[in-house]
Amino acid sequence: MSRLIFAANWKMHHAPAAARQVVREVLARYRPVAEREVVFFPPAVSLAAVVDEIKGRRDVAAGVQNIHWEAKGAFTGEISAPIAAAAGAAWTLVGHSERRHKFGETDAETGRKVHAALAAGLLPMLCVGELIEERRAGSTEAVVLRQLGAGLAGLDAATTARVAIAYEPVWAIGTGVNATPSDAAAVHRTIRRWLAERTPPGSRHAILYGGSVNAENSAALMAEEELDGVLVGGASLEADSWLRILETAVRREK
Ligand code: PEP
Repeated sequence: MSRLIFAANWKMHHAPAAARQVVREVLARYRPVAEREVVFFPPAVSLAAVVDEIKGRRDVAAGVQNIHWEAKGAFTGEISAPIAAAAGAAWTLVGHSERRHKFGETDAETGRKVHAALAAGLLPMLCVGELIEERRAGSTEAVVLRQLGAGLAGLDAATTARVAIAYEPVWAIGTGVNATPSDAAAVHRTIRRWLAERTPPGSRHAILYGGSVNAENSAALMAEEELDGVLVGGASLEADSWLRILETAVRREK
C-alpha cells in the first residue's frame, strides 16, 4: 500500500478565523492513519492560522496555492517560496488550472515555480489536466505530458520523484462532473509510465486525482488503486464533508 495524500484546496475562501475553525473541527475528529497525509491549502493570509492549528500533528501539513519563482524583489502582490516556507508552508500547488486559465500561467512558468519551490524546501504539487475541447479532440495524453514535461523540466530523477502530481481535468473542476474512476485511472497510468522513465526505479510516484470529488464519489474514486489521493476544492471547505472524504482513507485500507 502506497502513501496517500488528501489535499484541500480552499481557493479564495476562509479568512483566518474561519480557516482556524474548520481545521480545529476536522482535527478534533480525524485520527492519524499510517501512511496518510492531509494537506490544507488555505488563502495565504490564513496560512498562519492553519499552521498554528496543526502544530503537533505530523500527519497534517499546510501549503500555499501559488508562489512566484523569484525568491524576493519588486513583485507586488506575490509570495515567494522562501517566504511561504518561513511562514510554515510545507507544500505549494503549482499550475492549478485556475492559475493557468484565469491568470494566464504558462507551462514554462510552472517549471520555474517547481524549481523555486524545491530550492526553498517546499514540496510542489504540480497540477495538470486537459480542457473539455482537448479531451474531445483526443489530445488528453498530449496535453498532460506536455504540462508534465514543462513543469518538471531540468530536474534530475531523484528530485522529480519529490514532486507530487495532481491530475485535474479542467472540465471536472468545480463543475460537479467528476471523471469516472476508470477514466481517471487511465490518465494516471499514462502519467505513471512517463514518470517511471524519469524517476529512480522502484519508487511509487504520488499521483492524485482532482475534479468534483465529494463525499458521495470519493470512496469509488479511491477504490481505484491508481489514485494516490485526491485534491479537493468545494467539498473540502466544510469540516463535515471533508471528514467524510478523509474517511475513505480508512476504508481503502480494509
Ligand atoms: C480544485 O480546486 O483543485 C478542485 C478540484 O476543485 P473542486 O473539487 O471544487 O472541483
